[in-house]
Amino acid sequence: MKQNALRWLLPLTLCASGSAQAVVILQYHHVSDSTPKSTSVTPAQFTEQMHYLRDQQFQVLPLEQALTAIKAKQPLPPKSVVITFDDGYNDVAEHAHPLLKQLGYPYTVFVELNAVEHGYGDAMNWQTLQQLASEGATIANHTADHSHLIRKTDGETSEQWRARIKANIEQTEAAIVANIGHNLKALAYPYGEFNGELQQLLTEMGYSGIGQHSGAAGPYSDFTAIPRFPVAAAYADMSSLKLKLNSRNMPVAALQGAESQLTETNPPLLTVTLDGNDLRREQLMCYIQGQGAKAPTWIDADTFTIQADKPMPVGRSRYNCTAPSRSSNNYYWFSQPWVKLKG
Ligand SMILES: [Zn+2]
Repeated sequence: MKQNALRWLLPLTLCASGSAQAVVILQYHHVSDSTPKSTSVTPAQFTEQMHYLRDQQFQVLPLEQALTAIKAKQPLPPKSVVITFDDGYNDVAEHAHPLLKQLGYPYTVFVELNAVEHGYGDAMNWQTLQQLASEGATIANHTADHSHLIRKTDGETSEQWRARIKANIEQTEAAIVANIGHNLKALAYPYGEFNGELQQLLTEMGYSGIGQHSGAAGPYSDFTAIPRFPVAAAYADMSSLKLKLNSRNMPVAALQGAESQLTETNPPLLTVTLDGNDLRREQLMCYIQGQGAKAPTWIDADTFTIQADKPMPVGRSRYNCTAPSRSSNNYYWFSQPWVKLKG
């Protein structure tokens, strides 16, 4: 929207080869043998993944460095990766931190304030978080209560909703500043859910917004819709992860129809305008969650549309589009998340 409009005005001097422009942000929850598979990797898998990063000489960056480069549209080191954990579980301190510390890899933990303060759901307390922070971790904001931020309460006006959500985020950030001293102003959206109104609020508050939709981040990313690759369950195996670690930031110069929260227009019609010459447009393919592969419709040499055949369901869903690079064996990867509320 506003940011997309801005992109037209920016001198797009980004290098067409693109590999140095992307950063792959990994999203973990649990590192444990005994937690739900859908949000877990085992300690053995985690060790294998971190050793792969080391052996393949990936550059593991602090999230802050990646966000600064994305915002400024500055180059990132080749093979840049960021490691993040959501919800701040104790098993991260137990099974992930010792290895990350040994490898010298920075990482970020997004915490829910109430869980930290009351120990809900086996969340780390401030003392543990302080220990991790003193040894390379960044602590960042995942709201006070892990609520569905885009849901308004009964009869709540937009103004009341804004005040409530702003207070929720600021209360959490203030507690992180007071207890840890970090002030990254990066919010990991609970459940990866956001809409234009929330993106607008974050922009006004000076926050970046980190999602759970897949894709490589980079200078073409919307700063309030930063993608991450979830690593858990079927997505935790090495062949799946290797493809993602080598993916590129799709050069999206403009987006239309990208309001994430679905209302009247369903299935949503997404219009994407691409930049640069390295992406093989003729091989671009999209995948509609729950409905399978679908080829895009090209309007001109750089612009395509994609629309599912059937409406997207209540809850979260997405369109993913990928295309090979001309200059390497890697893929450009873009994901558009959708969320449809009940009723
Ligand atoms: Zn979470």
